[in-house]
Amino acid sequence: MVETLHDDIVKSTHSLYASLPAHGKPVVRSNGIPEWTILASISIVDPSGRVIPMSLGTGVKCLPYTKLSEFGDTLHDCHAEILARRGFVRWLLRQSHLYTRHQVGDTAIAIAREEEEVYVELARGKFRLKEGLQIWLYISTLPCGDASTLYTSAHQKSEEASQWHEADNNPSAKPGQEGVSRGRSGYTSISTLRTKPGRPDSIPSISMSCSDKIASWSVLGVQGGLLANIFDPVYLHGIIVGGVDTPSDMDEGSWHAMIKKEMERSVWGRLGNISDLLPGPYILHRPAIHLSSIPFEHSKTVMMATLPSEIPEPSPSPLSISHLPFMPPKNPKKGPKPEIIADGGVLGHPWKQGVTIKEKGRSRICKLVLLGQYESVITEVNEITNGQFTTEEKTYFERKHPTGSDYQLAKTILRGVPGKGTSIKGLEQFDDILSTGIAKHEEFDPHEMSRDLDIPLPPFKGWLVAGRQFESFTASGSLRRNE
Ligand SMILES: [Zn+2]
Repeated sequence: MVETLHDDIVKSTHSLYASLPAHGKPVVRSNGIPEWTILASISIVDPSGRVIPMSLGTGVKCLPYTKLSEFGDTLHDCHAEILARRGFVRWLLRQSHLYTRHQVGDTAIAIAREEEEVYVELARGKFRLKEGLQIWLYISTLPCGDASTLYTSAHQKSEEASQWHEADNNPSAKPGQEGVSRGRSGYTSISTLRTKPGRPDSIPSISMSCSDKIASWSVLGVQGGLLANIFDPVYLHGIIVGGVDTPSDMDEGSWHAMIKKEMERSVWGRLGNISDLLPGPYILHRPAIHLSSIPFEHSKTVMMATLPSEIPEPSPSPLSISHLPFMPPKNPKKGPKPEIIADGGVLGHPWKQGVTIKEKGRSRICKLVLLGQYESVITEVNEITNGQFTTEEKTYFERKHPTGSDYQLAKTILRGVPGKGTSIKGLEQFDDILSTGIAKHEEFDPHEMSRDLDIPLPPFKGWLVAGRQFESFTASGSLRRNE
């Protein structure tokens, strides 16, 4: 059988995962309950077809909104695909660093890590991926939220469904028109923004579902707001989804076709009305969608199928792994080490709200660390471009919101601007949560944007944001709140 590119991407991710130590992976608990998790990766495919997974993530947890840290030192959202993307951002920073070092003729780097190729180039003041390089996302299961709505309702047990039904305190509301829904609240409606599912009776998270985040990458790219200053948007070439089981009363071929269509609708189809409005270089990019039937060893389905039937139902693992094989190892003899994440920080370094986590306890992909990396990269870019970036200390928020940013304009067209959330289904009692509203932005001059008046309601109106309060830290770890 000819090995396809998609199989290659899945298999290289699975073997990278298999090569990692057991610590941090799902275990069988002392009470006999086996754990499961979700695996995701972002891989590059070079023009010769070689696949290299650059960032791997596992996990199914996120912090409740009452536990968010203002210092940017924790990971609010530890779902596998979100960690994989943050790790990929770290790769982009590493690549920019390598590029500038090569430009200034720093050979030490090339000698120390001769296998490290440079995949980016600088053109007209911004980095971009070299011609012919593809970026692929693999997830071992459908992303939570909108894309898995149909799948979940076909597979969901009836008692679970009724639990969410009871959590719908206003079943007559149509969440699709009213803004965001909490978790699986109103779980049969589609094209609905949703927060991460959690138990209906738990403190909610304000992290948006993975379907919604992946869809936003189809407009904004995966490089994020900070790197948008130094990178052209980086779009996913394709997304591969595993773990799609066929319900017993369905034919596999037509079920897979339906699920693929659902993914397409969810990750770009529902954004069609803004595709003509986006400011270049931002576009509505439509990643190719593929389903894979290669099983992931620690998925819920595989755990259930391989265990004797008297074993209790598997539970989600509380831990996450972030593995970045490109990172120079602390100990070169041992090679790159994965990070194990618990409760938003590195396992073994418990943290308290209101105090910055010590360096050892911060993940290398949290906002604070990425900001520090970003600032060293712009200093290096300045060396080769006559200082186009200010190196004066700024907060994360200020760095992400430079005047006249096309990224922020595209984000506003997609989501609107933050305001008081009034119609957050399932979150009514938490009235300090912000959500986005109409497509207007005081930072943009309406005269420069004459089409402003014709902008339809942002398709992702209602997006929950932690707000400026959570992005007012600087790379040195201080807070600058009142500006
Ligand atoms: Zn998710």
